[in-house]
Amino acid sequence: MAGALDRRPVFELLNGKSPEEIFGELPTPCYVIDEKGLRRNGEILASVMANTGCKILLAQKAFSNYDFYPLLSEYLSGTEASGLYEARLGAEEMPGKEVHVFCGAYRDDEFDELLKYADHIVFNSPSQLKKFGAKAKNCGKSIGIRINPECSTQEGHEIYDPCAQGSRLGTTREMWNQQMTEEAVDMLDGLHFHTLCEQDSDALEITVQAVEEKFGDILPRIKWLNMGGGHHITRSDYDIARLERVIGHMQEKWKVEIYLEPGEAIALNAGYLVSRVLDVTKNGEICNVILDTSAACHMPDVIEMPYMPPLHGADENGSLPFEFRLGGPTCLAGDIIGDYSFEKELKTGDLLLFGDMAIYTTCKNNTFNGMSLPDIWKRSQNGKFSRLTEFGYSNFKIRLGKEKVYIYE
Ligand SMILES: *Cc1c(COP(=O)(O)O)cnc(C)c1O
Repeated sequence: MAGALDRRPVFELLNGKSPEEIFGELPTPCYVIDEKGLRRNGEILASVMANTGCKILLAQKAFSNYDFYPLLSEYLSGTEASGLYEARLGAEEMPGKEVHVFCGAYRDDEFDELLKYADHIVFNSPSQLKKFGAKAKNCGKSIGIRINPECSTQEGHEIYDPCAQGSRLGTTREMWNQQMTEEAVDMLDGLHFHTLCEQDSDALEITVQAVEEKFGDILPRIKWLNMGGGHHITRSDYDIARLERVIGHMQEKWKVEIYLEPGEAIALNAGYLVSRVLDVTKNGEICNVILDTSAACHMPDVIEMPYMPPLHGADENGSLPFEFRLGGPTCLAGDIIGDYSFEKELKTGDLLLFGDMAIYTTCKNNTFNGMSLPDIWKRSQNGKFSRLTEFGYSNFKIRLGKEKVYIYE
């Protein structure tokens, strides 16, 4: 009965038990992060590091549940941040490990503090490099610039393609030729590119060729090359041997240290969102199920990307006898998780288990409609559960105001 939405790796850590058996006691909705899943991924990534000598960082924007940073630091070289707060979190919660940061543009009023946390600072443009580069160098930081190799290897997900026409992310060769100075190039320790999204190593291989073609004259002048994220290394059918060949090739040919900073791959299939059915209604042909969780609030990528998340015991519409449209309790007509089919009819109170919910969820959710934030639980290797957060009304209210200080008279 397992189909595309009930792939084994997603739910294999349940060892064939039913979701109700394992998660039935937890208040819903809640996220559960599975220690075993993180360790399984960590081991795969650590073996890539051991086989190649590259360094792998956690891209915190995908997963930043720092209760697990001590665990992840057993496997990884450090963290990657999108700005000041993530850099600080990485420095505080993974002490002694490397902190790398890339941001579309740095702020004058944050840069000094950022220097306290970051080891590597990557600039998006020649102008940012010229503005902040010397200051960072003088503080002993390793600095790089993000390049845009103008090599799109994905179709259909333009919002995740930094190589799309007119992209603001990274410096193309043309921009480089127009805006870089010898002095700025001399400051550089490394180059950074990030162009992939949930892709295999064949896409990386193609991208690396484009980097060599466009920036081959720069590569001999730098010490490190950061190949960004989007490498789906821990997916069961990912071609790791090819990844290791590509890394080895770059190390040998250009004598550079290689960094990877995946987000998804680190917590892939290492979490769940546990939900229950609140109501079942029928409108013409469509059986609508209202859950106590919301796509818009609790799994925003379902709408943003968009995609249909894996759901235990369910399949694509048309595969199994009973079809239901799953949606959230919010007012948004489009707050729909997807049309799924089931062996049995759904009824109020049923537990539904969404898979692969550790990434781009707990760090991206919101309280739209006054929805509560689902608590985050840890499932330890021994099967025990512990609660990591205690969200409630105050988390909704605190973000909305209550004037306290009069700054502008
Ligand atoms: C998003 C991002 C990552 C992580 O991407 P994943 O797709 O989660 O692996 C790494 N580096 C940069 C610069 C990013 O923007």
